[in-house]
Amino acid sequence: MTKVLYDQDIQKEVLQGKKIAIVGYGSQGHAHALNLRESGHDVVVGLRPGKSQQKAEEDGFQVVSVADATKQADVVMVLLPDEHQTAVYEESIKPNLKAGNALVFAHGFNIHFSQIVPPADVDVFLVAPKGPGHLVRRTYEEGAGVPALYGVYQDVTGEATQLALAYAQGIGAARAGVLETSFQEETETDLFGEQAVLCGGLTSLVKAGFETLTEAGYQPEVAYFECLHEMKLIVDLLYEGGLENMRYSISDTAQWGDFVSGPRVINDETKGRMKEVLEDIQAGKFAKGWILENQANRAQFNATNAKENQHQIEKVGRELRELMPFVKQPLQEKQKDVK
Ligand code: NAD
Ligand code: MG
Ligand code: MG
Ligand code: MG
Ligand code: MG
Ligand code: MG
Repeated sequence: MTKVLYDQDIQKEVLQGKKIAIVGYGSQGHAHALNLRESGHDVVVGLRPGKSQQKAEEDGFQVVSVADATKQADVVMVLLPDEHQTAVYEESIKPNLKAGNALVFAHGFNIHFSQIVPPADVDVFLVAPKGPGHLVRRTYEEGAGVPALYGVYQDVTGEATQLALAYAQGIGAARAGVLETSFQEETETDLFGEQAVLCGGLTSLVKAGFETLTEAGYQPEVAYFECLHEMKLIVDLLYEGGLENMRYSISDTAQWGDFVSGPRVINDETKGRMKEVLEDIQAGKFAKGWILENQANRAQFNATNAKENQHQIEKVGRELRELMPFVKQPLQEKQKDVK
């Protein structure tokens, strides 16, 4: 079995006396900056002027330009949106990196697909939390953490692995488990996971279920509860104890339905499509499309987003959640100011 590392396996000292620049203060950026500071590390935040800057300053950070943060720091963590990293890197980071610095990422995309080609005299590694930034922060505050992958692309100091581990520990990940990977594996599995299962697979499954029920004449409110709201309750059981724990909690009727109908919905044909999705990722076809889409000012992204937000499941959901004050205010609303 792969070796999973925890706090006791990691030396914090290697990061001590080093300055860490957190570039970007969004979902991951705010969490890394706050957690590292509370773990006793020296953090400076690098940003362009704007709303994120105000938020970082309210949180008590010194905020400087990305260029200045890079100049000051020994370790530069790039937490900008993937699609903006190349431009900011070329303009503000690359000219200010010094030999022996560490250039760090939370996702391997730009290095793996050669959108950023780092100089030969810096360490390059990734520390990729396997969860949303807001949970990286929340779990840290609760004394827990979100697991993370680390991987070294370039080690010029001989310390890159130790630095990556100390960084992962600083954001609280070693409380949950830290696992070694490569840039290739992290990039391809992360893209596949979010496309086929976690985000794309899930939204398509939920919508298809909702549409099947409403098209058959059932009430949209009932379909919403059945296909979307209950998802969280089921997922919590999976998270806590795997498939067996979830099946233990549901009725035997539901479990029998799971066994006989689940494989009719997600079958070999679906798996074949998943394989195609993975092949497009591996071949760089997905990356190319996403890079070009950004160069086209996101024409398709924006049109699809507008259409998706108008789906009946979204309208019904907004109305029903108004009446469920215990359902947390969406992060999207709360964090609008952070972007
Ligand atoms: P985000 O969109 O939440 O935040 C980006 C930050 O960068 C914001 O503070 C924004 O103001 C700033 N920014 C944007 N353009 C800028 C520019 N041109 N110059 C300076 N600052 C700029 O980003 P995110 O979702 O936290 O993603 C950051 C990285 O973390 C990505 O590599 C992503 O793949 C990775 N990651 C994200 C998550 C997640 O939970 N969102 C999970 C794992 C890995
Ligand atoms: Mg996002
Ligand atoms: Mg991911
Ligand atoms: Mg991702
Ligand atoms: Mg039920
Ligand atoms: Mg049961």
